[in-house]
Amino acid sequence: MTAALLTDTPCDVAADRAPHRAELPRVVGADLSVPVVDGSRVRYCDLDSAASAPALEAVAAHVAEVLPYHGSVHRGAGWTSRVCTALVEDARADVARFVRARADDVVVFTRNTTDALGLLARAVPGPVVTLDLEHHATLLAWRHTEHRVVRAGRTLAATLDALRTELTERPDAALVAVTGASNVTGELLPIPEIVRIAHAAGARVCVDAAQLAPHRRVDLAGWGADYVALSGHKLYAPYGIGALVGRRDWLDTAEPHLAGGGAVGSVAVDGDRTRTEWLPAPQRHEGGTPNVLGSAALGAACRELDPLIDEDVPAHERALLRRLRAGLATVPGLRVLSVFDDPAGSGDRTATVSFTLGELPAGLVAAALSAEHGIGVRDGRFCAHPLLERLTGGDAVRASLGLRSTASDVDRLVHALDRIARREPGWTYAIVDGRWAPTPDPRPLDGPGSGRPGAARGCGH
Ligand code: PLP
Repeated sequence: MTAALLTDTPCDVAADRAPHRAELPRVVGADLSVPVVDGSRVRYCDLDSAASAPALEAVAAHVAEVLPYHGSVHRGAGWTSRVCTALVEDARADVARFVRARADDVVVFTRNTTDALGLLARAVPGPVVTLDLEHHATLLAWRHTEHRVVRAGRTLAATLDALRTELTERPDAALVAVTGASNVTGELLPIPEIVRIAHAAGARVCVDAAQLAPHRRVDLAGWGADYVALSGHKLYAPYGIGALVGRRDWLDTAEPHLAGGGAVGSVAVDGDRTRTEWLPAPQRHEGGTPNVLGSAALGAACRELDPLIDEDVPAHERALLRRLRAGLATVPGLRVLSVFDDPAGSGDRTATVSFTLGELPAGLVAAALSAEHGIGVRDGRFCAHPLLERLTGGDAVRASLGLRSTASDVDRLVHALDRIARREPGWTYAIVDGRWAPTPDPRPLDGPGSGRPGAARGCGH
């Protein structure tokens, strides 16, 4: 029945043709099959790339190429040290180019976006303003500075007014930190407009691009924004790397984020104290042995995506999003969530959609999608508790599409949700260790690792 409904939707044909698909880079694991509870295996339908995306094949190949040369960075005269030092510095340049950094911006490698924002939090010289719709990474980074939260309104216009009012009435803010794209609804925030509002009040702007960078151009210089933070594992380079890119002055004078070897020019013991001469950024914040493979991977991902991120990636994802939204509209009781009643910015969004399904617990829906259909989605509150409180008063389900996604993935999700909504589950479920799970769960744990399924952590719930 769902299939029949889907073929009636006008966007189908265009999406099926996926005009840009052939040009998109392939990801590792695109053909992965997973067990389902009826004893069969199905191609894994990964609709959770907003949480973490697979590696591009080109990225994995580059890492394999680098591995034999793995060595220290900025520390050795040996050949591999020289190769690795060049790899890390080239990767810095690739990241800078990808986010359209200015010539005098600095790229600091971090573990991820959370770490990048933590670094900026050490550097910011005054109060920080955020919206309440943010991911916890942007909401919680500023524990050691004054932090003010502006409540987003029902419309984007009201939200920008509230931000303007806050910045005008208390003009001492040093920084506005804002997401480029919501990790819950995919709505894009109008960064150039936010930059104008913030700069008019004398505040700088940091864009949390964890969700934007894999899907749309980050244009630090074009927007006039001051900093951008991103995560490699969301950008098809899952090797424990992230970056903070932006204005040098605060970063050159801030307390070192990771103090230690590599971050100092000289150290002496003076009486019972150390006397240090810290290097400027980025070394100042990158103490310890750097993540060479991660940097190389992130640089490679940036090189691969740079020619595609303006048109091909958005075109692919927009076609799939149209198909997904049309399909979801046919599922009884399904409500798609939006932060704003008016379209945010251009009305464009990433292909990340959160929804509730009647009164069904989100965890149960996600468990059934995985157990019976081999579909991976996220359920919970997506590390955005204040926003989910406002939108649902509880949990939701999130499907997020990316380079790996196909029209058939979208159709599988819609078909599966339709069955679940019509109470046609093919299995029984119960709460086990605080999470909905199939009972019994006959799926063999045949992947790599200990063979024990990982327990979900609190953030999503
Ligand atoms: N910001 C947003 C909008 C996110 O969606 C996420 C992760 O989901 C983060 C920040 C944190 O990213 P990471 O966990 O890689 O530090």
